[in-house]
Amino acid sequence: VIADIVFDVPVWRAFAYVIPRGMELHRGQRVAAPLRGRARIGMVVDLRYGDETGLQAIARPVDAVPVLSRAALELGRWVAEESLSSWGSTLLALSPPVARRGAPVIAPPAEIGPIAGPPPELWVGTLREARLAEQLRAIDGSALVVASDREGAGRWAERLDAARLDSGVSDASRRDAWFAAARGRARIAVGTRSALLVPLPPPATLVLLDEHDPAHKPPGAPRLHSREVLSRRAALEGSRLLMLSATPSVESWWRAQSAQALRRHERTEGWPDIVTADTRGILRNHPLTLPLTRAIEDATRRGRRAALIVGRRAATLVCSECGSFVRCKECGVPLPFSRGRNSLACRLCTRAEQLPERCPTCGGRRLSPFGWDAERVEAAVRKRFPKLGVSRSDADAQIAIGPPSILKPSGPAALGCVGIVALDSLLGMPDFRGGERGFELLWAAMEAVRAEGRVVVQTLHPDHYAVEAARTRDLASFYEHEIKLRSELGYPPFRRLAVLSVRSRTEGEAHALIADCARAFDGIPGLTVYPAAPRDAASTTRLRWRLMLKGPAELPRLLAPAISPLLERGRRAGNVVEIEMDPVS
Ligand SMILES: [Zn+2]
Ligand SMILES: [Zn+2]
Repeated sequence: VIADIVFDVPVWRAFAYVIPRGMELHRGQRVAAPLRGRARIGMVVDLRYGDETGLQAIARPVDAVPVLSRAALELGRWVAEESLSSWGSTLLALSPPVARRGAPVIAPPAEIGPIAGPPPELWVGTLREARLAEQLRAIDGSALVVASDREGAGRWAERLDAARLDSGVSDASRRDAWFAAARGRARIAVGTRSALLVPLPPPATLVLLDEHDPAHKPPGAPRLHSREVLSRRAALEGSRLLMLSATPSVESWWRAQSAQALRRHERTEGWPDIVTADTRGILRNHPLTLPLTRAIEDATRRGRRAALIVGRRAATLVCSECGSFVRCKECGVPLPFSRGRNSLACRLCTRAEQLPERCPTCGGRRLSPFGWDAERVEAAVRKRFPKLGVSRSDADAQIAIGPPSILKPSGPAALGCVGIVALDSLLGMPDFRGGERGFELLWAAMEAVRAEGRVVVQTLHPDHYAVEAARTRDLASFYEHEIKLRSELGYPPFRRLAVLSVRSRTEGEAHALIADCARAFDGIPGLTVYPAAPRDAASTTRLRWRLMLKGPAELPRLLAPAISPLLERGRRAGNVVEIEMDPVS
């Protein structure tokens, strides 16, 4: 009998091996087998009869039983196809830790037949997490809760008294939890991305927390957003899928709205006031405007905590007279700026423009990169409030200063005041998601503040639609506006993006390789191929290049025939060719 095995290598196909006499294997079981002279761990994806001549033999089973169901193997294949990446890397990244020798044998996961499931539900509103906890306690069936990071997984495991599948606990207990979930001994399991394929007895409820979080698609396998993997899984096995977010991605909002699967769990108490502090025309030598200083005073006088959110310094140019960003005329996204260069090149279409002397909108002469770093903000706050506890590391300080993530641990309605020092560092990101990220921060700030408190937004764009939607507490109006823009400019969910990048040892090779890549996509219908550009615009060497591709929903299937010889060729010559579907940042 022949076993087809996939490995954690950038190769798409499976490798055939002979199963030694007396060894019993199943699909979904891990084995050790020789590959190019090395013993490697692989996953058995198929067993079949065939010609065994010339095939190598499997060395030993790594697990005594399968760790993945056949349905999970198929789901993994779909993930690999959708992300134009390796089936083996995908499956092995989504398997439990390997057992140490002598670990007890545990029964394999049950198989589930395909059933049609309900459309994925999208839960918004401040009470979404409280409702989720109630529902999960009330149902009888199994459940998987996927958090965006270990800290979140830990909080939810405690809250639900659930088994943990993430790397916040030891390998042995993760492995136990995997099989306990598969056999229904642990009714609720909590994990991160690595738990996406854990087998569950039906009927199962799948939950994705903080659906909008880019942490659901970090670099590395599996190279697809957790939202897509769970949506596909739910559809294949008929499970119910709940996705929670204060401010979902535009893609999910659009889909849920079309499927009438949007559920609102609104807060019952009031909302804080939103105050905008217009920083246009103000010399930016101090990060605290008067409204923000007052809000901090009021909050701390009442014994409430304040948080000041400082984003990364904007890598874009903004006019301090009218607040406009310098944008690409073609793509509508702000142009990235780096010091010491005299041109601006669009990240998408690579169009380069001379560094303008005057604002293209109002003719103003004060164009500069905008933003405050946390250190400078801290110094200014200490000077202004010498008697208060100020910290950049302790989220429980009287005044905490940091990135948007410092709002997370507090939970809803815990703070007296949130100040957004420079919203424009998000709105002006050189990416089509700038509006989404800015709105996400505004709404998170509103949820974090008590009804009698205040959110102060310092911005050059007090009339931006994201600010307006937050001020009027109208979630839907933000998405309406954003969806219209996305459809006009051809961004997700209406078109799909992919980034192809190459890396070579010499500039000549790199350039030739990226040119060949671009040629390989010539003539594919429905595809937009943007010109290639050096990956790091600031670097003087040209060893890395990238190009952006845009196409319809079936983009991976359009690219697949052209891309696999390129990946193969890149490997042979010691070069690297990579493709990233649906980039998130
Ligand atoms: Zn201007
Ligand atoms: Zn452009």
